Amino acid sequence: VYILAIESSCDDTSAAVLQNGKVLSNVVANQKIHEAYGGVVPELASRAHQQNIVPVVHQALAIANIDKKQLTAIAFTRGPGLMGSLLVGTSFAKSLALGLNIPLIEVNHMQAHILAHFIEDEAQSIPKFPFLAMTISGGHTQIVVVKDHFDMEVIGETIDDAVGEAYDKSGKILGLSYPAGPQIDKLANQGNPKAFPFPKPKVQGLNFSFSGLKTAILYFIQKQTKENPDFIQENLKDICASIQYTIVNIILDKLKKASKQTGIKTIAIGGGVSANSAIRKALKDGEFKFGWTAHIPKFEYTTDNAAMIGIVGYLKYLKKDFTDEAVTANSRIKI
Ligand code: ATP
Ligand code: FE
Repeated sequence: VYILAIESSCDDTSAAVLQNGKVLSNVVANQKIHEAYGGVVPELASRAHQQNIVPVVHQALAIANIDKKQLTAIAFTRGPGLMGSLLVGTSFAKSLALGLNIPLIEVNHMQAHILAHFIEDEAQSIPKFPFLAMTISGGHTQIVVVKDHFDMEVIGETIDDAVGEAYDKSGKILGLSYPAGPQIDKLANQGNPKAFPFPKPKVQGLNFSFSGLKTAILYFIQKQTKENPDFIQENLKDICASIQYTIVNIILDKLKKASKQTGIKTIAIGGGVSANSAIRKALKDGEFKFGWTAHIPKFEYTTDNAAMIGIVGYLKYLKKDFTDEAVTANSRIKI
């Protein structure tokens, strides 16, 4: 079974070819254009997807060494994401499936961030059901009980900003370019995590809140730079380490609570922020600290990529769960 998968939900145009559960190619075109704006500009993202989609798909087929006539089905991201971005991938996938007369398979982007663990790859392991998935990305922060591939229940989520946003907005305050998450991660590893204590939000149960942290950082930086205009330059590594320390603690606290509450000790992380070195380490440490079985995705399957869309496409293909060609993109679709 050869699946061509298309991902265009946000600012990365990606295409992948999977042979059964294995990835033959996974091409991602990043959109550098947003760096200057401190965040993704939806209009520009949509336009860049239109420019990228054909070359990216061509490259994915070429690397996989597959002719489009050999494809078994086309999988695509239906949502959630930016409408103008989703429409490009959706329209492309629909027309190609129609032209080749092969099945079309819609994929939920957030399910894909979780099911990326089912890609067969030596660098990662496949979790056993039931497991807890922590999806941490640019638009979401969720704790999900995964009972089966397509039987998922969200038991906790953010009531305001996503954790990726917390990273990116903190970075913006510090004058870092978008996306700031990977830069903060790198700088944090050279700084003192206890240099500047930031408050942890008081949110009941398994929900999250990150907007208070962002405000606390903003006020702290404003106050400090008033006294010393060079405060950020002189303390950047320590500030980043302190932000990272606070965020990782917030996430770990909730994960421990969720594990206790559900009795589930198999834990998988997914989404762009699961590339974070401190979060990966905290999860790994949980194996001997709390008896967890930790599943950490391979780097290229953390931020947006079509390989994760392809594995969901394959799992749905096995169930003959196909999509009608009248389908439209859905920017707010739930898990
Ligand atoms: P969603 O999946 O919710 O629709 P998205 O697709 O925009 O959102 P992803 O591509 O999954 O998000 O993740 C992007 C986010 O991951 C950005 O906010 C980025 O800063 C963050 N990120 C990437 N690498 C790291 C890292 N090493 N540490 C912290 N954050 C990171
Ligand atoms: Fe994503």
